[in-house]
Amino acid sequence: MQTEVQTMKEIVQQKWNKRPLIISGPCSAETEEQVIETATQLAGTGKVDMLRAGIWKPRTKPGMFEGNGIVGLPWLLQAKKITGLPTTVEVATAKHVEEALKFDVDMLWIGARTTVNPFSVQEVADALKGIDIPVLIKNPINPDLELWSGGIERLQKVGVKQIGMIHRGFSSYGNTEYRNAPMWHLPIEMKRRFPGMPLICDPSHICGNRSMLQSVSQKSIDLDFDGLMLESHIDPDKAWSDAKQQVTPERLLELLNNLVWRQESSTVEEFITALTTLREQINQLDDELMTLLGQRMKLSDKIGEYKRDNGITILQTNRWNEILERAFQKGDKLGLSKEFITKYFDAVHLESIQHQNKIMNS
Ligand code: PEP
Ligand code: MN
Repeated sequence: MQTEVQTMKEIVQQKWNKRPLIISGPCSAETEEQVIETATQLAGTGKVDMLRAGIWKPRTKPGMFEGNGIVGLPWLLQAKKITGLPTTVEVATAKHVEEALKFDVDMLWIGARTTVNPFSVQEVADALKGIDIPVLIKNPINPDLELWSGGIERLQKVGVKQIGMIHRGFSSYGNTEYRNAPMWHLPIEMKRRFPGMPLICDPSHICGNRSMLQSVSQKSIDLDFDGLMLESHIDPDKAWSDAKQQVTPERLLELLNNLVWRQESSTVEEFITALTTLREQINQLDDELMTLLGQRMKLSDKIGEYKRDNGITILQTNRWNEILERAFQKGDKLGLSKEFITKYFDAVHLESIQHQNKIMNS
């Protein structure tokens, strides 16, 4: 028994260090057959490193399937025995941690609805004190990097040694093309804050549909993520939760085979030289852009002085619309998207208003 446990620990260790790390399994553990059949087919792909399944499901609305709870844990253990795949489940309370450990779950993750609540994260962290198990923490539902970082720090403080992050996108009001907008700059910022910490992408919860899984997975790989967590179900349309975004193990294999894995860096000298040159050009252009922006603000200051001396308001809506319209037209010819132009000019406008405000009120 002892050696068996150690062997599994070694396997988990290996998986933890493997790149890319591929985690897959159903959104929820529904029945013993569903868990075991899915696990068997996933193991059969030869590409899946760990088996996931939701045991306790925090659902947004009551009446949705909230998980089988503890009765699902033996199914996972059985699936592991049959396939050799280490298992991972979501935990939200100290009791979940305790029960998952009783059934030899190999890795835990904290869900997005838990990361938002420091009380819950602390409760889970306290339950993990002195326990040697890898823990992944999903981003909170809302785009708040302090909450995400805070969750990580709570785990670090109780001594969890292997901590990873899962990017599952951020919720926003209204319909967008994504179920949860990826806002890629946010996970990238987390990579900067926690260098060396594994960062996994969860395209399933970002997309909320099957059609975009491939492109979102590829995008995360191109951004140097360390792995993927993708939901897979033997009969996705009949899944008890997240039916629209799950794929069969067969489709999962296709998706994984279609991915292009690029290296972050290369030793090929030519490539490095070309890259350095291009980066220098970018630095140069960025410098020029900053200088131009500085000059633009100086003109704003002058206008501010004029407005102050003549008692005119800062914001003149017509003028602003005119600037945007001009920019859209020019941007279109230069291959700049309307979305970018809007964001860029909003930022410039805000800075300009602040400049004028200072002048008019000083
Ligand atoms: C899940 O992984 O099934 C899940 C509930 O995800 P999230 O916490 O990202 O919503
Ligand atoms: Mn799910």
